[in-house]
Amino acid sequence: MPDRTRPAELAALTSIAAQVNCTQDLDEILAGALQTTLEVIGEDSGEIFLLDEETGDLILHTHAGLSDSFVAAEAVVPAGQCVCGRAVQSGEIALVADITAHPARSRAACLREGFHSCVRLPLLARGQVLGLLNIQSRNQREFTQADVDLLTAVGNQIGIAIANAQLIDDAERRRATLDSVMNSLVDGLILLDKRDRIVYVNPRAQEILDLPVLEGAGHTLDDLDRAIGARVARPRRTLGQLRAALADPQSTPSVELALTAPAPRTVQARFFSIHEAGGGSLGLGILIRDITREKELDEMKSQLLSTVSHELRTPLASIKGFATTLLRDDVEWDDASRREFLSIIDQESDRLGELIGNLLDMSRIEAGTLRIEPEPADLRPIIQATAAEFRMLSRAHDIEVDLPTALPAVLADPRRARQVLRNLVENAVKYSPDGGPITITARVTSGEVQTSVADRGIGIEESQLAHIFDRFYQVDSASTRKVGGSGLGLSICQAIIEAHRGKLWVESRPGLGSTFHFTLPLAR
Ligand code: ADP
Repeated sequence: MPDRTRPAELAALTSIAAQVNCTQDLDEILAGALQTTLEVIGEDSGEIFLLDEETGDLILHTHAGLSDSFVAAEAVVPAGQCVCGRAVQSGEIALVADITAHPARSRAACLREGFHSCVRLPLLARGQVLGLLNIQSRNQREFTQADVDLLTAVGNQIGIAIANAQLIDDAERRRATLDSVMNSLVDGLILLDKRDRIVYVNPRAQEILDLPVLEGAGHTLDDLDRAIGARVARPRRTLGQLRAALADPQSTPSVELALTAPAPRTVQARFFSIHEAGGGSLGLGILIRDITREKELDEMKSQLLSTVSHELRTPLASIKGFATTLLRDDVEWDDASRREFLSIIDQESDRLGELIGNLLDMSRIEAGTLRIEPEPADLRPIIQATAAEFRMLSRAHDIEVDLPTALPAVLADPRRARQVLRNLVENAVKYSPDGGPITITARVTSGEVQTSVADRGIGIEESQLAHIFDRFYQVDSASTRKVGGSGLGLSICQAIIEAHRGKLWVESRPGLGSTFHFTLPLAR
């Protein structure tokens, strides 16, 4: 029986309590507590297990004075097994005075370690078992009531330490999960406290609004308004005004901000109140959504409707008009007139077909399903056939072709290459209303063939050059309005050429004409 005094016991308890207070590292606390307990109880071997809440198994966490093979065998004590398991289930301390007489699972192993007696002490906090402290004795020791009292007091301290560590762990895990959620949000989130001070800005809000760091430095909603104010093109209501409107129960606390920089984008900011469980207000949240794409799609839809209704109506009206004329019973048309009417119907049907084809292509491009089937293709016959076709269609234009003697094959979808070329030559004809030369040339550059279509037509203002490849874009001038069109041709051509990894661009001078160039890779 070791010589133990009351002050020594108190010192042990104080030491364990101090360790609990000065570190949050559970491993460190448990190792220290085991060591102190062994010292005060006068033994040299023991273990602390933690209870796995899900399985009920005991998992060895720290140990002292044990052989490696014993530790390996004791790493996990299955739920309910042995004296250990029963101590955990009952929540009561278990004393084994003579291991040799005890029918325990690990009796042989205990005897190999030289143990004679042992104590199994459940570690509790708030009435719940969290783990187990084992002390083994290699002496002929019988644990006394004084030992039990001391160990119980020590066990309570360790139990509290485990509970605290688990609480901290739990809180940290929740915080980390919350952080991951906030960082993964597709939308931006800004949180304000009750005095409108910014307490949190998630990375997405920072990115969408291109904000400086505003959280945690006493910045307020006004600072946020100032940070974006200069870049808001359409401030129907600022965030500050919106905040004020929250007091009005009828208000819809949402605003659309058209930002000009760093890139033009439309952003929707929506306010919501944050309440604590008791119902009191904690502050406000602002959800920030980048709705640029949705706005574009909306705009595209309305443009599509107006283009379709306008551009379909014109050819349809003339097809209907000439067909009705031909069907009149009261008039006898001569062959020449009938032929003329039929050829107008034919041309207008082609126009309709082309427009519908363009709309289909556009929707394929939008959906990302535009397919090209590249193969080694010879551009010479494509260029010559297109020139011949337009020579027939327009007598006012002098369509010339200028090709090198050797024009190597390109890697292209021949149908799509023809579509691009036809579109450019058609535009050249359309936008040189007074006629004149249109030249199609091709030349080999590094790894590519560059094809160019030059006209001496109306040309394009410099300010419009950046836009003519946008879908539905048409230069709004009297001369372009006269010729009609959907504004889809060039954007489709660009998508087709880019799908071939080529480039499409234009050089133009108003009044002097335009030259469109596109490249296609050589078929090597
Ligand atoms: P569309 O011809 O149906 O209007 P496009 O996408 O083919 O649509 O062309 C977009 C705009 O680019 C046209 O509306 C026109 O203003 C301008 N454009 C295209 N080609 C030429 C050209 N060769 N000369 C002058 N302007 C052109």
